[in-house]
Amino acid sequence: MDNENNKKKIITRFAPTPSGFLHIGNIVAAMISYLYIKKNNGKWLLRIDDLDYHRCRQNYLEFTLKSLEKLGFEHNSKIYYQSHYNEDYKFYLNLLKQKNMLYGCDCTRPLIKQHSAQGEHGYVYSGFCKDKNITEKNSALRIKSPDKMWQFNDLILGTQQQNIKQDLGDFVIKRKDGIMAYLFTNVIDDYNMKITHSIKGADLLFSVATQQFLKQIFNFSSIKFAHFDLIKNNNNIKLSKSTSATGIDIKNPIKTLIQAYNLINNSNKILSADFDSVDDFWQYAILNY
Ligand SMILES: [Zn+2]
Repeated sequence: MDNENNKKKIITRFAPTPSGFLHIGNIVAAMISYLYIKKNNGKWLLRIDDLDYHRCRQNYLEFTLKSLEKLGFEHNSKIYYQSHYNEDYKFYLNLLKQKNMLYGCDCTRPLIKQHSAQGEHGYVYSGFCKDKNITEKNSALRIKSPDKMWQFNDLILGTQQQNIKQDLGDFVIKRKDGIMAYLFTNVIDDYNMKITHSIKGADLLFSVATQQFLKQIFNFSSIKFAHFDLIKNNNNIKLSKSTSATGIDIKNPIKTLIQAYNLINNSNKILSADFDSVDDFWQYAILNY
């Protein structure tokens, strides 16, 4: 028997937010998951995080889709727009309400600053509003997070331990402006899209326990996590971001791909741009991954 055929296909996604032009940091993130998936013969899906109608714009979305196409990122299956799944988010929000896990919070930022400790990922919300019976209207909804240690194995960074209560406090599920929060929607999207592997930058490592916690409540099966530590290259990426307010250069897709590739592969740089086509680049990159 061929074991390969019996193995479940791995599925991951890249999820840009069309609230600005795609920058080199986005391409680095996309490339990391794309190479991993190509090497493992899996599926790479595209999710558009367009819930924040204050910030998302049609021209940014068009630039994002056009850029990915020009750079040769091929996504399997149709694009998943978060804005098409509001009913799902409402369904799971109601589930949390029924379980009495949410409470309203009308704290302003300065107030949160006053009563919360500064954590590694912002203020650790103290539960200030928990017993105040604040109505949902014009307030955020926070979840009562457990004071419990979560342990998981990151495919790259190894064994990790996180305590949501101590690291983040009661985190926001629905924002004051009515928009569902990323940590909440992401769990539902991963479930809807049948994601098996979450491949992201290490800046999102802190959120794994929140995802495990919500998955357990919703009865979703767990997925694998891989976080790429790009700290070595962070300065370069930040620099590229700040120097490129108009977004990446899609008139020179090969140049942009090489730039992103070199940011990932410090020790294995492509020094010259002798690729005839975008396809040539990808063949090289996948082979040398
Ligand atoms: Zn509050």
